[in-house]
Amino acid sequence: MSSQTLSKFLHDNLEDLKSQGLYNVIDPLESGNGPVIRIGGRELVNLSSNNYLGLATDERLISACVAATTAAGVGAGAVRTINGTLSVHVELEKKLAEFKHTEAAIVFQSGFNCNMGAISAVMDTNDAILSDELNHASIIDGCRLSRAKIIRYKHSDMDDLRRVAHEAKSSGLYNKVMVITDGVFSMDGDIAKLPEIIDIAEEYDLITYVDDAHGSGVLGNGAGTVKHFGLSDKVDFQIGTLSKAIGVVGGYVAGKQELIDWLKVRARPFLFSTSMTPGSAAACITALDILMTSTELQERLWDNGNYFKQGLNRLGFDIGHSETPITPCIIGEEVLTQTFSRRLYEEGIYAKSIVFPTVPKGTGRVRNMPTSAHTREMLDRALAIYEKVGRELSIIS
Ligand SMILES: *Cc1c(COP(=O)(O)O)cnc(C)c1O
Repeated sequence: MSSQTLSKFLHDNLEDLKSQGLYNVIDPLESGNGPVIRIGGRELVNLSSNNYLGLATDERLISACVAATTAAGVGAGAVRTINGTLSVHVELEKKLAEFKHTEAAIVFQSGFNCNMGAISAVMDTNDAILSDELNHASIIDGCRLSRAKIIRYKHSDMDDLRRVAHEAKSSGLYNKVMVITDGVFSMDGDIAKLPEIIDIAEEYDLITYVDDAHGSGVLGNGAGTVKHFGLSDKVDFQIGTLSKAIGVVGGYVAGKQELIDWLKVRARPFLFSTSMTPGSAAACITALDILMTSTELQERLWDNGNYFKQGLNRLGFDIGHSETPITPCIIGEEVLTQTFSRRLYEEGIYAKSIVFPTVPKGTGRVRNMPTSAHTREMLDRALAIYEKVGRELSIIS
């Protein structure tokens, strides 16, 4: 017998979501997550994946994954601190430190896990965290888990950050104060104002934490937002994911040796969740080798991003103020945004609509992620569909 209270809770809430059109139906891909995907037997130009450099389906990574799996098995068999640390994990951490120009790095099973572990390993109830209001959900949850006082500042508003930093410091209430931000904000594609953030952090002695999930592999010749601004030795925590531009799965912190030593004894997902598979770790090493020896993929990514932005702009769409290849197409009203996205889907584009509460009311958008793996033919096909659907729904004239 299952709990009646639970059944009622689930049923009522699911019906409620469905009636509001907020229930997310997940369509499985019948192909890999490449620039063109197959869903329900149809081919669609894929503008929704974070696979910025096409590495998720790269032959070199696949070979490395297969070789490591053959050599060491499909699973690591234990958590890192018991006997789940294989030499391939140590090699990956060394490679990440090199990639990020830091003394050391620690690998987690995902970027989400990394934020769960890293923040609470250093912050507690006697501390405060200054957090950009648009920070990623995993940062927000990681902050909550630490039980530090969370003080939000207005998105990329440096006067507001200075104000909260001053208040937190002068209140005398907190032992440690941290400022935490995404490196690249994924809904608009804008870049955090790191030089100003670092100045304020130095003035008020703040711990600095930059989650560069969308910047690594994209900015700073691949090394990310911190490198882009030449601040590699000024940021305490450089967080990244191995699941976006790197194309595999996993997360990491890069920083000073003592910080990494501490995380290895205090970050709970590192201590209590089995380490990433040998195949994934080996594929990540190959991806980092590719990124550290050539900028060809980044160049193609930026070319494609610029090409697609110019195309949408020429058609008369509002593409916001992105500073990266992420290309929002802002439609505005929520229902129209969803209709637009559905029509794109019917015509052959996979691009997700993003509406309130993920973004403010009236700024609904379809977010496009052109990658280095798209050909001009694919992008032209997508632009032709945008034009057709945009005219049909009177979004462009
Ligand atoms: C995607 C993302 C994560 C989560 O990374 P996963 O490796 O997918 O768990 C964390 N932080 C930010 C800023 C992200 O964009």
